Amino acid sequence: MQSYLSSYEMSWKGFMTTISQGALADAEAALTSALGEAAVITTPVVLGDYTADTYWPALYAKAAGTPIARPDVVVRPRTEEDVATVLAIAHEQRIPVVPWGGGSGTQGGSLAINGGIVIDLRSLAEVIEIDETSMTVTVQAGKNGRELEAQLNTRGLMLPHYPASVEWATVGGYIAARGSGVLSTRYGKIEDLVLSLRVATPAGGLMETIGVPRHAMGPELADPHDGEMGLARDVFLTRPLWGLAETAPYLHDGRAATIPEAILAHGGDAQPQRDAFAALSPDDQANLHLFLLSLTREPKVRVAR
Ligand SMILES: Cc1cc2nc3c(=O)[nH]c(=O)nc-3n(C[C@H](O)[C@H](O)[C@H](O)COP(=O)(O)OP(=O)(O)OC[C@H]3O[C@@H](n4cnc5c(N)ncnc54)[C@H](O)[C@@H]3O)c2cc1C
Repeated sequence: MQSYLSSYEMSWKGFMTTISQGALADAEAALTSALGEAAVITTPVVLGDYTADTYWPALYAKAAGTPIARPDVVVRPRTEEDVATVLAIAHEQRIPVVPWGGGSGTQGGSLAINGGIVIDLRSLAEVIEIDETSMTVTVQAGKNGRELEAQLNTRGLMLPHYPASVEWATVGGYIAARGSGVLSTRYGKIEDLVLSLRVATPAGGLMETIGVPRHAMGPELADPHDGEMGLARDVFLTRPLWGLAETAPYLHDGRAATIPEAILAHGGDAQPQRDAFAALSPDDQANLHLFLLSLTREPKVRVAR
């Protein structure tokens, strides 16, 4: 275990940069001046709370007393303008910033591996609006998943995103991680549910994306479409395939159940290849399909529908 962690730590160190202590002191002073003392925390015991999310090597290292990451400062913004201010200060002083949602991530994404600033977004946890006509909710990024669900439930509503980490994760963490939940096969992943985002940028401003759902880009192959495209909904997400390497089901979002379906669904730059494939005889298509399957690394599982 020790040797594993050592090589693991070395791999982190390959990405590490050194923060100028002068710049850090200047950033702390600017943060305190802009956000107030209560929002800018450097107490060692509090910093210790941000040395591990649920990434197991981080948990192990923290338990062993040798955390692999530790912020120099934790900031708890009270407004979205505060977030933009933190980013502007960090940008000016070239200090790394890491957002912290619920800390339930399993990949170490919220760890300050270079030190610097952690912005704990749980202090931004307001439900701004529940629109029962449009069935939308506007909520701040640090809202805990379970609390949001409970608040919606009091109105007889629910969030279609329900991950196993709902107790700990935040709405911002859902989106940053492009999470899925137990209802995602019915309602889509979190990115299918988001209408609009207000985003703080390192240049110090806030921007808002236009309020359109992802499906406003047009129907996707998995959308129900009564067969007019020749594909019925029940062919999707029902036949686990193991194709070229481990990429199946195909079309990235798993909407093509076979390699020929994926080829025939392509257009754009791949249009000539798609047309060439479509022009092959059924036997030649089958032979090509067999050849492509022969490239498979894991050809074992075939589940009947
Ligand atoms: C027991 C358990 C069950 C889980 N089940 C699921 C599951 O069913 N589905 C699933 O998708 N995941 C699951 N996860 C993984 C994890 O909970 C999710 O990825 C979750 O969405 C992370 O949210 P968080 O608020 O805890 O984010 P954090 O862990 O705090 O952060 C995750 C990443 O998002 C970034 N981030 C957080 N908030 C913001 C923000 N406001 N703006 C920009 N970046 C931000 C962080 O910097 C980090 O890179 C599970 C984890 C555990 C421990």
